[in-house]
This record gives sequence, C-alpha cells and structure tokens, in this order.
Amino acid sequence: MCFSMRAVLLLTAFLCAALAKETFHGHQVLRIQAKDEAQLRLIKDLEQMFENELDFWRDVSDVSTPVDVRVPPHALDQVKEYLDSWDIRFEAMIEDLQAMLDEEQEEMESAARFGEARDTDSFNYKTYHPISELYSFQDMLVAENPSLVSKIVIGRSYEGRPLNVLKFSTGGSNRPAIWIDTGIHSREWVTQASGTWFAKKIVTDYGKDPVLTAILNKMDILLETVTNPDGYAYSHTANRMWRKTRKPNSGSSCVGVDPNRNWDAGYGGPGASSNPCSETFRGPRAHSESEVKSIVDFVKSHGNIKEFISIHAYSQMLMYPYGYTQTPVKDQAALHSLAQRAVSALTAVYGTRYRYGSIINVIYQASGGTIDWTYNQGIKYSYTFELRDTGRYGFILPANQIEPTAEETWAALLVLMTHAKNNS
Ligand SMILES: [Zn+2]
Repeated sequence: MCFSMRAVLLLTAFLCAALAKETFHGHQVLRIQAKDEAQLRLIKDLEQMFENELDFWRDVSDVSTPVDVRVPPHALDQVKEYLDSWDIRFEAMIEDLQAMLDEEQEEMESAARFGEARDTDSFNYKTYHPISELYSFQDMLVAENPSLVSKIVIGRSYEGRPLNVLKFSTGGSNRPAIWIDTGIHSREWVTQASGTWFAKKIVTDYGKDPVLTAILNKMDILLETVTNPDGYAYSHTANRMWRKTRKPNSGSSCVGVDPNRNWDAGYGGPGASSNPCSETFRGPRAHSESEVKSIVDFVKSHGNIKEFISIHAYSQMLMYPYGYTQTPVKDQAALHSLAQRAVSALTAVYGTRYRYGSIINVIYQASGGTIDWTYNQGIKYSYTFELRDTGRYGFILPANQIEPTAEETWAALLVLMTHAKNNS
C-alpha cells in the first residue's frame, strides 16, 4: 500500500466491502417433507411469514416432492421451531452452504491455474467458467467451424452484454429450426456448462453421428448458452445464489425480475409474484426484460422454429406446457409419449431417474413461463428440463458432474430433435 492517508484507506475499505462477494456462512438448506395437504399449506404460510428472507430452491409442490429452502442463520431457530410445532418433517440437506461454495471456488481456482483455453479442444468442459470465458468459447467455436456455426446477436442484456445465439446450419435459408437455451436462471450453473458442452458436441459429431447429421441436414439448431448474462456474471462476482435479471425495479431497492415468469402466457396469474423482492417476481409487465423480449422478437421474426427447449436445474424433470393452467394442451398425448421416450434415452446413459409430465402436474402452477408462451405461438414441441441433481447439492452441483449431466441430457435431446425433424 503506497498511500497511507486515512481517507484513501477508508475509501479502499469501502470499495472492498462494496465489491465483496456475498457469503453464506451458517446458511442451511432444509429439506421439508410434508405428509398431507394441510402441511403443504403450513409450509406456504411459512413462505409468507418470512417473505424475502427464505430462498426456496424448490418450492411447495405436492406431497411426493420435498421442499428445499435456504435459511439464513438468523432465521434458522424460528423456522425449525415452526416446523417442529406443526410436526412437519425436515432435515438439513446442506449444513453450511458457505463450506460447499468454498469447495466449488477451490475447484475453479485449481482448474484456472492451467490458464485460459486457446481453442475449443483444450477448453476445460469439466469446470465452471466465468462469463468472459464462455463468450470466448463461442467465438473460438465460430472461428474454428465457419461453415457450420455462426453467431447471432439477438439483443443486449440490461447491462449491455450481447445476447448471443449460436446457429448451427448446414445450408438453406431459414430452414426449420430447433431452439435450445440454457442459463435463463443464472445460478443454475450446470445448465450454461451443459449448453457449452452441447455446442462442442454438435461440431464434433456432425458428419460422424448419423442421428445428429440427419437432424442438421434438414434443420438448424439455435443455441443460446448464456441466456441471462448479467445474472451469470453477478453469480460469479457478487452473489452465487443470483437467479433473476439485474434490472433495478422502480420503487424498490430489490433488483431483478424472474425471467421465467415474465412471458406473456398467463402473465400475472398464480405462481408468480408481484413483489420485486421475490425470487419469482414477474416484472412490471410481460416481456419487460430485454433478455426475454429479445427471444420473443427473434422467435416471431424467424417464424420457422419447430421445437423449443428451455433448460433449467435442478430436480431431474422433463416437462411440457402448461404451467399457468390446468387445461391440458391439445397435443398432450403426443408430448407425453415423446417425453417418455426422451427420458428413457436419458436414463439409459447413467441410470439417472427423471419425472415427466406437464409443468403444472409435475411441479406446481407457474405463470408467465417460457414454454407456455412458445407453445401458444404454435411451437408444438415445447419442453423444459430440470437437470441434475435432486437436491443433495442443488444449484452447487460439483463440477465433476458437468460432463455426465450434459452427456445424458444430450441423449434425450437427440430423441426430441429427431422427432421434430420427422414431424415438421
Ligand atoms: Zn430455473
């Protein structure tokens, strides 16, 4: 330190505090298992009582699905007493979240010692990467495969980052297309990592794997790997638990909108919040978020997207519309049997078990979701994944599970894409 002036020191201390990463010492993730509808309602009440203080990693659904909730240390006693008083079963899935985050950070730092990749062959697919490296991966992939891959910038995030879509195309103009996005919820890191792996898989397998080759000889694949770039950057530099966009909300100190509640499909209905501090805040109006609006505009102007797959984590589920209403989609039977085939292909790889069905039946009512909107736009094959795991690590899935997760998901994607190819 060259300067010793008190003012400089104070300023430095202030800046360090402002730039410091949020820590989660003593935060626990509780797994709550309701035994009946009455207990589910009591957990809903708990959510209301502690609004904005509890972070529901997995929200209240039905008695067959446990609720996972991150509880900060100051609320732990109260939450546990509440659950005990109603005789609701729970256990601490994660005893100290910060310890798990420290391990994740150590893994990333040791992988980073090998330096940044110079090409997509030497890129490390077994670790999590900051956003700059995911962006350079995209550019390297395009540079290495100019006749197969191009980059389309469909818009800018709130903070001005490019919203990049990788377009894999073997020719033709405006061919029917398959859309895949990962990372619309930024803390779901295994999804951006899987999307990056898919991109490399496509260029590696085209011309070698007859299944993928047949798809690409008829259709384009559009892949947005970092769908919420501001959130992703923030989840690396400031708060690992960040899910929403980073746009400030007027009249509130809470930042961000849930980009999976912001679509114009049952917008504003049950299963989304009007409170800007909520993790499921729907935003001031439908398509208010540029990360959402850019996809909306792109899908409409493209006009030939036949399949739309939006990838989340965690819970191990494959779902189709609707989320906002109990009314079944008119293609329910076809979507269900295709989901079943995709899941069997996935399970065949490593034995990972998935549930499947409509969003409202498999998880819970959620309004303003991505694939409800795409389905209502006429994209019949609209699906959403929740990748690994089922809650042991939740969002902090260890990096050694990236490749197996991507690999098994790819098996399911091939089934979904082949079906779209044969039926459009
Ligand atoms: Zn998500």
